[in-house]
Amino acid sequence: MNAAISHSLEGRPEGSHGAEQMGHLVTGGLDLSHGVALYLEDITVSFDGFRALNQLNLTIDAGELRCIIGPNGAGKTTMMDVITGKTRPDAGKAFFGQTIDLTRLTEPEIAHAGIGRKFQKPTIFERHTVFENLELAMKTDKRVWTSLFAWLSGEARDRIADTLRLIRLDKEADRPAGLLSHGQKQWLEIGMLLMQEPRLLLLDEPVAGMTDDETMRTAELFVSLAGKHSLVVVEHDMAFVEKLGGKVTVLHEGSVLAEGDLATVQNDQRVIEVYLGR
Ligand code: ADP
Ligand code: MG
Repeated sequence: MNAAISHSLEGRPEGSHGAEQMGHLVTGGLDLSHGVALYLEDITVSFDGFRALNQLNLTIDAGELRCIIGPNGAGKTTMMDVITGKTRPDAGKAFFGQTIDLTRLTEPEIAHAGIGRKFQKPTIFERHTVFENLELAMKTDKRVWTSLFAWLSGEARDRIADTLRLIRLDKEADRPAGLLSHGQKQWLEIGMLLMQEPRLLLLDEPVAGMTDDETMRTAELFVSLAGKHSLVVVEHDMAFVEKLGGKVTVLHEGSVLAEGDLATVQNDQRVIEVYLGR
C-alpha cells in the first residue's frame, strides 16, 4: 500500500473503504525505486486522423520540476489528458513509477494512485472558508462529512495548517474562498491538490492571469514542492519558467522538439523557427 493511501486510512471510522477497494489496482503501490516518476513511450493520440500526440516520449524523474512549453496546439494539454486517464492513447506506454500502468486505470483510480492535476479555472468552494476548502479536499469519506469536525484528528489539523502556510493563506483561513484574489484562489486550489498527497502534480498554465508578484511567489512555491513531489508545469510565461529553473521540454506537433535547460532550448534553431514561424 502506498504512503498516501495508508495515511488516508489512519483515524478513519469503520466502514469507509474507498481506498481499500482501489488498492488492488495499484498493487504494491507507487514504485519510485529507479528514480522515475513518469514514463511515456511513443504515445500517439489521434482525433479524426489528426495526431495531437505523435510518438511522444517523456521521462520525469522522481522529485523533478519540469516545464513544458510549445506553441498552441502542440499537444501539451492532450499529454496531461493522457497522463490523467481523460484521454486514452491509441498507442504507446504510460507508467507512473515502475509498475502503475496509467493506460489501464480510470481517472479516479489515477488520482487515487497519486497524480493530481490543476486546471486553469479554479474549482474551489466559494462559500466555504479557505480552511474548509482544504478540509474538504482531504482524502476522506465524504459520507461522514457531517460529523467530520467531531473526529478531525490533530494530525489532520496540523496538515491543514502546514498547507495554509505553504500556500501563504494562513491569514485568510477563516475567510470565504470567494473573497480571495485570483492568484490566492489559484494557490488555494494548489493547496487542495496537496491535501490529497499527490506524488506527481500536473499544472496547466498555473500563473495565467496572475500579477507579476503572484507569479514569482508561485514559482517559489513550486520550487519548494519539488523533491517531495514531481511537478510537470505547462506555461507560456518565460520569466516564470526561468524562475523555476528546471529542465524544459519543448513540444511541437505532438512530439518533443527539444529538451534541456531554458537557455539551451531558447538557442535551439528548431525551437526558434517553430516560435518565429507562427
Ligand atoms: P496545447 O495544449 O499544446 O495548446 P492541445 O493538446 O490542446 O494543445 O491540442 C493539440 C491539438 O489537438 C490541437 O490541434 C487541438 O485542436 C487538437 N485537439 C485537442 N483535443 C481535441 C479533441 N477532443 N478533439 C479534436 N481535436 C482535439
Ligand atoms: Mg493547452
